[in-house]
Amino acid sequence: MKSLWRLVLFVLLSIMLGQGVWIYYMYESYKQEFVWTIENSLANAVYMEISGRNEQLGGVISFAPYDVQDTSRYIRKKITSADTVFWVNIDRYDKYSTLKLAQFLIKDLLPIDIAKLDTLFRQEIGNSRYQIGNTYMEYIDLKDNRIIRSDKPKSLSGSYVSTREIPIDINNSQGIRAYAEVPSNAILRDMTIQLILSGSLILITLCCIFYLFYIISEQKKIEKMRQSSVNAMTHEFKRPISVAVTLANLIPIYKKDKNKTDRYSKNICQELNKLTSYTEQIQQISKSEKAELQLNKSEVNIRDFFSALKTKYTGTENDKADLQILLEVKRKSFYIDPVHFANVMDNLVENAIKYSEGKANVTVHVFERKGRLLISVKDKGVGMSWIDKNHIFERYYRSNHKEVQQKPGFGLGLTYVKLIVKGHDGTIRVKSRLGEGSEFIIEIPWTAYVET
Ligand code: ADP
Repeated sequence: MKSLWRLVLFVLLSIMLGQGVWIYYMYESYKQEFVWTIENSLANAVYMEISGRNEQLGGVISFAPYDVQDTSRYIRKKITSADTVFWVNIDRYDKYSTLKLAQFLIKDLLPIDIAKLDTLFRQEIGNSRYQIGNTYMEYIDLKDNRIIRSDKPKSLSGSYVSTREIPIDINNSQGIRAYAEVPSNAILRDMTIQLILSGSLILITLCCIFYLFYIISEQKKIEKMRQSSVNAMTHEFKRPISVAVTLANLIPIYKKDKNKTDRYSKNICQELNKLTSYTEQIQQISKSEKAELQLNKSEVNIRDFFSALKTKYTGTENDKADLQILLEVKRKSFYIDPVHFANVMDNLVENAIKYSEGKANVTVHVFERKGRLLISVKDKGVGMSWIDKNHIFERYYRSNHKEVQQKPGFGLGLTYVKLIVKGHDGTIRVKSRLGEGSEFIIEIPWTAYVET
């Protein structure tokens, strides 16, 4: 199981890493596209600047000075300029040869106009889909890679990319290189869809990881609670059995003392009833898992039902509680499963007693509101925190508070209560404050009981 979680985690982390790498390379490829754009802009600007100078001198530049029939690499050409005639070797494989030739032809007559070149370069970038950011140029001696002239501003911010060197004379001795600020915002804007997709995938992956951890920790918690519940259950089951066995053994000894044997029999009955109630609760909870919960509902007199509850918790043996029952209903009967509903009330009252210090003060208030029957069980006991309030109806849940942990219990009582109340189409809610007591309110709808 552990290795499965590890594998899942590994896969999820790999997805996230993959996304990160994907985004990085996508950004780099968009950046490369920008580099190509500025390279083209620079090449175009150089051509245009030369053309401009050439035109100023009254010439026209031919960008394809090759003879179509001649396929040799080096072509010796006779060049006739305005007032001179000379021969040059043109390298067919050198794509800048025309440019260099043109530079060569006019360089002595009209030198390169740096300011114009810069303007043209920026204009060309402006014609592309990128906005013009900061740019500067460097003139390089290509023989020793020495920077002859640099327009680099003194303070630079942001990241810059540079073009290749574009040779600007026939002797391959001088080149030009342009630098431009990376338009990160524009690139990121271009990547919006990919970023959204990738972000959502990473978010989903993160949610999955957190959900996984949540499930693992929840499972561990439930397993721990289940384990301690089983331990408590074993203890709780053993107690009534051993009490009943001890008392049963005493009956033959005191068979002549009717008072004693009657009391022992009554106690045995009480302990065995407790055992039956426990087993019933567990049975119902496990049945509810299989959606097999069956209730035998019948019409029950409200007054009789709550009198029985009062009797159960009154008397010398039950002096741990001061139980008040307030009946404020006009209806005489309600439609319930008497056995299970009695167990529900027992659970609530017993909890109220169990989670109170000293003699418990418990009030059961039965009243009607908007055609619904409400039963409130209120105590002035230890109360509970809001975290506990959110979990007490969960299976095996028990508060971590010292006052609760000291008391016996296996965290199934309220799960059973909620199940039975639901079986009566009702709801149960709790109002409680730590140290101030708790109130459980059951609400049964109009349809769940009949008028007599
Ligand atoms: P158990 O009482 O066996 O622990 P329950 O399901 O009956 O199991 O109750 C679940 C938890 O709810 C208890 O462990 C306790 O933390 C809390 N609880 C229930 N009733 C009360 C109450 N009247 N006052 C304070 N806490 C209560």
